[in-house]
Amino acid sequence: MTTPLTDAERLARHARHARLAAAHHRHLWHPFTQMQGWLQEDPLIIDRAEGVELIDTLGRRYLDGVSSLWCNVHGHRVPALDEAVRAQLDRVAHSTLLGLASTASIECAEELVRHVPAALTRVFFSDAGATAVEIAIKMAFQHFQLRGDEARREFVSITGGYHGDTIGSVSVGGIDLFHRIFKPLLFDVHHAPQPYCYRCPLGKALPSCAMACAGDVEAIFAARPGRIAALVIEPVMQGADGMIAQPPGYLRRMREICDRHGALLVCDEVATGWGRTGTTFAVEQEGVVPDIMTMAKGLTGGYLPLAATLTTEAVFESFLGEFESRRTFFHGHTYAGNPLACAVATASMRLFRDQRIIEGLPGKIEALRRALAPLLAHPHVGEIRQRGLMVGVELVRDRATRAEYEYPLRVGHQVCVEARAHGVLLRPLGNVVVLMPPLAMSTAQLEQLAEAVRAGVDAVTARA
Ligand code: PMP
Repeated sequence: MTTPLTDAERLARHARHARLAAAHHRHLWHPFTQMQGWLQEDPLIIDRAEGVELIDTLGRRYLDGVSSLWCNVHGHRVPALDEAVRAQLDRVAHSTLLGLASTASIECAEELVRHVPAALTRVFFSDAGATAVEIAIKMAFQHFQLRGDEARREFVSITGGYHGDTIGSVSVGGIDLFHRIFKPLLFDVHHAPQPYCYRCPLGKALPSCAMACAGDVEAIFAARPGRIAALVIEPVMQGADGMIAQPPGYLRRMREICDRHGALLVCDEVATGWGRTGTTFAVEQEGVVPDIMTMAKGLTGGYLPLAATLTTEAVFESFLGEFESRRTFFHGHTYAGNPLACAVATASMRLFRDQRIIEGLPGKIEALRRALAPLLAHPHVGEIRQRGLMVGVELVRDRATRAEYEYPLRVGHQVCVEARAHGVLLRPLGNVVVLMPPLAMSTAQLEQLAEAVRAGVDAVTARA
């Protein structure tokens, strides 16, 4: 419990906030944020945290409803993770992986391969989801070049996919709002129709469609025999386009298509990895083993930037040769395998094992489902898409016609603003309210989260 502040302390706190807010307005430019309107507002400034609560400069506490952008896993200030960082600081904060090894990165890779499908034995470290995907693309491309399969240089991805913001990862991405302006800078990728059953781009419906959208993926491969290097996909749930859940069996079909056509399957687990969908990795739900898998976000429990691109010995071996053969993978980032990040990642992965975190998820997933169930009948909720602890609540102007709310209304954003009054921090994706709580959230906290969303949806749709 916090003790009440004296008047002097309260004044000092407000003065500090005002000073920070003024400096913020002078200097910061925020990601994915229209700064013009933002600069008219008083920013909510996070100062510290406890467990799954974030605390701002004015001392207000909020549940971290989107896991600090989908990366926090065990909560904040977890003793075992804090200790791992401190212990590593006493050894070395950073040393390079270019031509040197480090204890922290070796131990991290060794622990990591225990958690992924057994065929993925090689770990290439970087520092963001986007770099992990960039690496996957270049790795797949060079793999076929080195094997003499030089015509295999094209990529297939899924409309609505999101794989990060660098030019390569945007090329395989497919979110019109974010990516359209950069089109002239991108390389050509074959975009297959999105498996978005609520708004099927093919105008069909399950089960009679027999997953026609998957058939369209196969048609792309069939039309380009020997030319497709890889299919890049977010497995089970496309996150950033609004939590678009794939029908069961879809990912398996993607694996079969890649196998039939000799291409690699790249599964981007940056969002879905580390328990979000109820299994450690989403691919497990479909019994699929990708050739390349990317991860970041939750790898360090949400503590520090670290990413990994994992692959099989078969892909790795393509790159082996004498020094002068130049089969080297000429790619690397300064902070690749940063020891502090690796140390905390190892500690986080050990928590997954020691505390049997995945085994404890079904009760929480069910509690969240139950707590959101009343919204299913709401006249302005079109669909609730939940896979594990990843949820998207799609708001609609008209349930019968599925008519969307107009973009300028920002209904998703307004629901999140309302939720703050209920002590919950959220970030929407257009008209989709996203819930992505840390796995450590208790059942009672998950219920508070759902209640805040319900209250927000009621308040905003009543006036929109
Ligand atoms: N891939 C997926 C599936 C993601 O959701 C994201 C981030 N939301 C990224 C890649 C990019 O990760 P980062 O922001 O760490 O570059």
